[in-house]
Amino acid sequence: MPRNAGRPVLAALPVEELAVLLSPLPGYRAKQLFSWIHRGAGTFDDMTDLPLPLRAELSERFALYPGEVAAELRDPDGTVKLRITLDDGYCVEAVLLTDGEGRRTACLSTQAGCPMGCIFCKTGALGFRRNLDSAEIGSQFFRLKGIAGDIANIVFMGMGEPLLNLQELRRAAAVLTGGESMGFSPRRITVSTCGIVAGIRDLGENGPRFRLALSLTTADEKLRRRLLPAADPLPAVKEALRQYQEQTGQRITLEAVLLGGVNTRPKDADALADFAAGLNVAVNLIPWNPVEGLGFEGRPLREPDAGEIARLELWLGKLGLNVTRRFRKGRSIGGACGQLGGTPTG
Ligand code: SF4
Repeated sequence: MPRNAGRPVLAALPVEELAVLLSPLPGYRAKQLFSWIHRGAGTFDDMTDLPLPLRAELSERFALYPGEVAAELRDPDGTVKLRITLDDGYCVEAVLLTDGEGRRTACLSTQAGCPMGCIFCKTGALGFRRNLDSAEIGSQFFRLKGIAGDIANIVFMGMGEPLLNLQELRRAAAVLTGGESMGFSPRRITVSTCGIVAGIRDLGENGPRFRLALSLTTADEKLRRRLLPAADPLPAVKEALRQYQEQTGQRITLEAVLLGGVNTRPKDADALADFAAGLNVAVNLIPWNPVEGLGFEGRPLREPDAGEIARLELWLGKLGLNVTRRFRKGRSIGGACGQLGGTPTG
């Protein structure tokens, strides 16, 4: 049972478990609370259809969310980043992104730190602290919903490798997608992995049928070993993706974080096209977002220049791939891809 300063946490529980916890209150109170949490209520006092004495009693006995929001940072482009300090002092970050048409996406974290050590990622540089529990994962969504109102999509692309914490991720997603909830469709949830074969297989066999994105970065295996040292070998990853596609019928996104002078060569385009052959994929190019102190084999990493990006995009297009480029969002608040890393303590 997740706790906040000793009090049981209510957010991200299924309504039946809420009812048990709130006993002897009648069952309809659990449904009211559940509904408020799913609308993004920030405190018990926001729950205006509950009597005042009951709100006071609930505040004494329970907490709505685990941890505390230590910072709410806003970029002029509309991106919002929450830094949440958990009960044990570790930090995680969650980001709200808004696209050109006003659609909002919640980017959520699944681990405090990350064990994968991808060399271009701030979270990877922190090392691994621990897996988040389902309440810590789901609560990021509810807190962002309190800010955003409607959220169209969820991406598990924040801190951590989601497929190394699949059990808690499933529990969190079950509360978001379940019948009593707002019924968020798993098809609007994307899980991004750097290539954990056992996790992809598990997801394919046991669901839910999330959309899948592979943080490929390069399909040149030798280079990939140096950039994403803990990811599984590409032939096994490709076979797991092929199976996932067979099981779900879904298109898979191949994400390529572009590092200036490192993975933007013609041979990177060729390798990517070879990897994509036989799969139904879209390629998403993500120009690297600067993180101070990150380097590759003795040299600081640098952003790709406009010419490098355009050339790679052109080569990939000529090779028959469907390519999009990710817009840069949230850079001024360290909320862009690869920049998350609330400093863990303890
Ligand atoms: S890119 Fe993802 S998997 Fe790799 S270190 Fe960063 S958070 Fe972990």
